[in-house]
Amino acid sequence: MALIVQKYGGSSVADAERIRNVARRIAATYDGGNQVVVVVSAMGKTTDGLIEMASQLNDNPREREMDLLLSTGEVVSSALVTMALHAMGYDAIGLTGWQAGIRTDALHRRARIVDIDPSRIQDELKQNRIVIVAGFQGMTDEQDITTLGRGASDTTAVAMAAALKAQCQIYTDVPGIFTTDPRVEPRARKLNEISYDEMLELASLGAKVMHNRSVELGAIYEVPITVASSFSDEPGTLIHGSVAMEVRNKVRGIAHDTNVAKITVVGVPDRPGIASSIFAPLAEAGLSVDTIVQNTGIEHRTDLTFTVARTDLAKAMAVIRPIAQAIDARDCVSADHLAKVSIVGTGIQNAPGYAARMFETLSKNNINIDMITTSEIRITCVIEADQVQKAVRALHEAFELEKPEE
Ligand code: ASP
Ligand code: MG
Repeated sequence: MALIVQKYGGSSVADAERIRNVARRIAATYDGGNQVVVVVSAMGKTTDGLIEMASQLNDNPREREMDLLLSTGEVVSSALVTMALHAMGYDAIGLTGWQAGIRTDALHRRARIVDIDPSRIQDELKQNRIVIVAGFQGMTDEQDITTLGRGASDTTAVAMAAALKAQCQIYTDVPGIFTTDPRVEPRARKLNEISYDEMLELASLGAKVMHNRSVELGAIYEVPITVASSFSDEPGTLIHGSVAMEVRNKVRGIAHDTNVAKITVVGVPDRPGIASSIFAPLAEAGLSVDTIVQNTGIEHRTDLTFTVARTDLAKAMAVIRPIAQAIDARDCVSADHLAKVSIVGTGIQNAPGYAARMFETLSKNNINIDMITTSEIRITCVIEADQVQKAVRALHEAFELEKPEE
């Protein structure tokens, strides 16, 4: 008998018919002789609707009450899925996140799970019940309700699987993890497997299938995660620790992200402490920065360029402008129509030729590279946003990702 945690996303429970479909799938897993714990997201676009509703009543609602509000979306799903199972004659019980023992810190709207006490769930499982848990939420030590950040029902599911030492199945509206976004490149191919590290890069770089903290947790607690469609029986993609050691093609996927802007602080005095005086206040403002490029100085001045999410640009410029003045930089400019395109795969940094082939492919397609960064498992180029589709397709072709794995 296996213990399985399944998660169903918002589109999988968007209406009564889909909830019935989900209930049938849960029942089939249970009938297969498994213990089943299910984590559900809010129905369809419920969370967006609740945020919109709040904005009609208050321009700046308190985060505590936002969490109280947003947590209800998942609670509705948990109750309804449980009722659908009851109607089919199954013994199931619906639980909110806090009833399921999920304790978090007090950072409302982006709380982190501190601990899960699985004893209630274990009791229910002992009574042969199916347990349906509301995703995306928990409770602080002060018994305030928190939410874990947009898309974080995945994180609830993986954390629950880790606490219960179970396997984790994420059911969504796509059949798995693809070599790239199939809406951009129709020849994108579903991967049979991918490593946690590669998935983490893809998730952070704009592949929106999985919440990236859920992949991080999976890696830390070594939870095998399957991602598959709730609308078919096709096998999905297995995310796990090791992928065949010496795969011929090290590039596993192409990620892209069009939420990119860059800021250049021009003519920064070239002396110790300057970088920290620029980046520390950005960090304090909760703004994450990446792809930092600093030139070597000429006549004791240098330019410092970095990227931020386009959606954070106004906030970042408001932080940077006074600092640029204070450190006597010449100017501070921004550009906001940028994108990142990345090739991702374990070992590409150490394998000769991958970077060269990436740059050559972009150049052949007349795509100008603005900035380049690498990590052990990816190479990222910052380019113009309107070139990104062309870049993704050209790279997909150049690295032969449409060809099946061997
Ligand atoms: N309902 C939440 C959201 O839309 C959490 C989730 O679906 O994972 O962000
Ligand atoms: Mg999601």
